[in-house]
Parts: sequence; structure tokens; C-alpha cells
Amino acid sequence: MSLHLTAVTLTYADGDTRLTALDEVSLAVPPGSLTAVVGPSGSGKSSLLAVAATLVTPDAGTVTVDGTVTSGMTRGELAALRREKIGIVFQQPNLIPSLSAAEQLQVMARIDGRRPRTVRARARELLAAVGLADQADRRPHQLSGGQRQRVNIARALMNDPTVLLVDEPTSALDHERGAAVIDLIARLTHQQATATVLVTHDRSHLSAADRVTEVNDGRLTHPTSPR
Ligand code: ADP
Ligand code: MG
Repeated sequence: MSLHLTAVTLTYADGDTRLTALDEVSLAVPPGSLTAVVGPSGSGKSSLLAVAATLVTPDAGTVTVDGTVTSGMTRGELAALRREKIGIVFQQPNLIPSLSAAEQLQVMARIDGRRPRTVRARARELLAAVGLADQADRRPHQLSGGQRQRVNIARALMNDPTVLLVDEPTSALDHERGAAVIDLIARLTHQQATATVLVTHDRSHLSAADRVTEVNDGRLTHPTSPR
């Protein structure tokens, strides 16, 4: 499994007590597969992604990324793990206004001796894969909302992540553009063999998923496989 959550519990301080955002959540995501997570607002979907992304340390349980157990790792080790193994796509693209689409991707390249020419070629290849070959030199304000979200997705794939985590990527898009973005994520998951977790509030997106799991009050119902 590329991503493995085992009995993850996460609580937040809530006045004098604690709120349980995730309650013994276990999830295994194999490479090249898309697991969709649905559930009502406040059910713990974003918390699940934050823990899987190693951005938040759970109270209990383990997160294993590409065979590496993340418990006990230092902040620096976790940052390196995220850079090398985890692609993250948030709701809002958060692109850098002054950079072209190609440059948004190039600044993500890990500093591990990859030659600039290789980095530029990879950026071009990924922009082509998301249908933006002709927009590589455009800045964010010259792109539509759907195109910006495609740049965001391409950027998350720049370091060939093992795990791709996507949080409600269509919330700012109309239905048609949203569906196209979901289809793109499914296609890239299979092409790039990422273990992908897609949080969505839109059940019409579930047909693109290999497995669907539902979160309610921090508890997961087990993935139904196949849909
Ligand atoms: P979802 O993404 O499904 O809407 P979240 O994971 O954002 O749900 O939130 C789950 C629960 O945890 C909610 O009750 C939310 O209010 C609470 N919560 C989320 N983040 C924090 C935080 N940083 N501090 C305190 N409570 C939080
Ligand atoms: Mg959320």
C-alpha cells in the first residue's frame, strides 16, 4: 500500500473538553487507485487529509507513506517526505501571481540535482497532460478558474509523488468544469500510479472513483470495492 492509515484518532481542544475529529480511522490506498471520501460538512474529511499529508500529527494511530512509518519523524524529516512523496491539492489553487504556469511547476522541483532542463521538460509534459500545453507562459490572471485548478493539479505531480491528496477541488467551478477536473484526477491517478484520496461533497463525482468511503462524525465506513 502506498498510503496506510491505521487506527488514527485526532482530537482538537474544544473549551474544557476535546472534540474528536477522527475516531480510529483506518484506510489503505494502493498505487494507481482513486479513493473518494464523501461526508457532510464538519465530518472530518479535511482532518483526514491533513493527517495523511503529515501536516497534523494524530493523537493515536499511524500513517505510513510508501512503506515509511511517519511516527516519531522530525519536522524536517516530514517536510522532506512531503516534498518527495506527497502531492497536495487544496480547494483554492493558491498560485503565485507573478509566475507563469510553467514556472509554478518549476519552483516545486525538489533540489536534488535535477538539471534545469529536466525540470522544464517535466513541467511542459505535465501541463500537456492537464490540457494546458498552449498556456504554459500564462500567468494566473490570464487563466480561467478551471485552468488554474489544472495548474494546481499539475504542480502537485511535479515531484512524482507516491500519494496524491485532493480536497474538494471543484468547489469554485461549475458542474461541467468540475466533472472535467475529477475525470482528469482519475486519469492522472492511473497514468502516474499515485495512491489518490479525493475529498468531494458532490456525489456525481463518485463514478470516477475506484473506491468510495464515507466519513460521519470522524468515523469511516469501509471502502466499498468496487463501487
Ligand atoms: P470537513 O472537512 O469534513 O468539513 P473538518 O475535518 O474540517 O471537516 O472538521 C472536522 C471537525 O473538526 C469539525 O467539527 C471542525 O469544526 C473541527 N476542526 C477542524 N479543524 C479544527 C481546528 N484547527 N481546531 C479545532 N477544531 C477543528
Ligand atoms: Mg473540509
